[in-house]
Amino acid sequence: MMKFCSLYSGSHGNCIFLGTDHTKILIDAGMNAKHIENALAAIGENPKEISAILLTHEHMDHIQGAGVFARKHKTPIYATFATWEAAAPCIAPLAEQQRFGFNPSDGLFQIGDFQVQSFSISHDAADPVAYTFYAADRQISIVTDLGFVSQEIRTFVHGSDAVLLESNHDKEMLTKGPYPWPLKQRVRGPQGHLSNEEAAEFALELVQDGTKIIFLGHLSQNNNTPELALSATCEKLYAHGFGILNAPEIVSGPFVHVSVASQDRQSEVAIL
Ligand SMILES: [Zn+2]
Ligand SMILES: [Zn+2]
Repeated sequence: MMKFCSLYSGSHGNCIFLGTDHTKILIDAGMNAKHIENALAAIGENPKEISAILLTHEHMDHIQGAGVFARKHKTPIYATFATWEAAAPCIAPLAEQQRFGFNPSDGLFQIGDFQVQSFSISHDAADPVAYTFYAADRQISIVTDLGFVSQEIRTFVHGSDAVLLESNHDKEMLTKGPYPWPLKQRVRGPQGHLSNEEAAEFALELVQDGTKIIFLGHLSQNNNTPELALSATCEKLYAHGFGILNAPEIVSGPFVHVSVASQDRQSEVAIL
């Protein structure tokens, strides 16, 4: 059994929980430690039992609470070597035995019950990665902060039972919105973030390949709404004959679960 829950997801902070009976991990810790502890408590989890924090990259919305949380709960942190270098000033000080570095090309590594596969994503950070996790005969992927969906990403994410997928912005809101021109260019560029349309395209591919649960995450506060993100992906799936169910549980036939992972609170808990 795997338990999967977005505690926080969005441009102001990201932290995702994934657990089996024996191993519980966080992917990113981009809210302050108190918020993360509260969200864990709300889903019945104890911060002391977190086996590891895995970072995707060094931007503040992914690492903000990592140092405090790790020092308080003696949690090991995993990140690519280049992410470690870039994140160190924010995370330090941290005991040597709590620091684990890897390269995305290293292949699978093990954390308790989980086999972990990282893979590179195109984003304006030192060495950003996304992850796919294998445990209990299930595969779960967390894919946010990417300028585009590369062939490598497809290879690793296809076949997942559940995916947390970035659906960052509505293209029109971004174009007409308040961001200065260079920032607009950054967000929609090849090292920026996926739009709702791009997320919908990838979600369709994944669902056609058997994915049953999609959480749309990392929504922009300024350039998106949960309704726009949800309707982009749901309409795409409907148009291709898929039905949407509300409960994030394993569904059969042409039904899938799609929902938006919230910025401010924990989202539904998926049990797979
Ligand atoms: Zn980022
Ligand atoms: Zn981010």
